[in-house]
Amino acid sequence: MNAATGRRHRWTHHDKNHATCQHCGTRAQKRPSPYGRRWWTEWHLPDGTTRDNYNGQPTPPCLTADDARKET
Ligand SMILES: [Zn+2]
Repeated sequence: MNAATGRRHRWTHHDKNHATCQHCGTRAQKRPSPYGRRWWTEWHLPDGTTRDNYNGQPTPPCLTADDARKET
């Protein structure tokens, strides 16, 4: 298992809509769409950036600080 294979996050759920990954520290928040019944997810990555799948983007990869060092 390494970063290249896209390891799955291991989520610890805080409540119905909030979770944090035990491996990489990414925080996920489920949000309701203002335009309908669909839900989308916003991810707060450990490096301070934010991603979401509102437009169909995939879940960001699960990278620990160690993984990030190996890639640089
Ligand atoms: Zn993760």
